[in-house]
Amino acid sequence: MAEIEVRDRADMLAELIACESCSAPTLLRIAGLCADCIAGIGLAADRTAYEAWRRRVSEEIERRATG
Ligand SMILES: [Zn+2]
Repeated sequence: MAEIEVRDRADMLAELIACESCSAPTLLRIAGLCADCIAGIGLAADRTAYEAWRRRVSEEIERRATG
């Protein structure tokens, strides 16, 4: 992916962050993973990684709800 130059952080609406799995820069990361990685584990025959990720999503939602 081409590097994007940030010119004015005060006007910035979103920031690229690295996916914890593939390290790709992404604007949307849910429980550590980018959309491509979520799709990959979501479509895999082995549900182990997907179920672990779903538990992490639930834990993060719970943690944010309870502070
Ligand atoms: Zn990824």
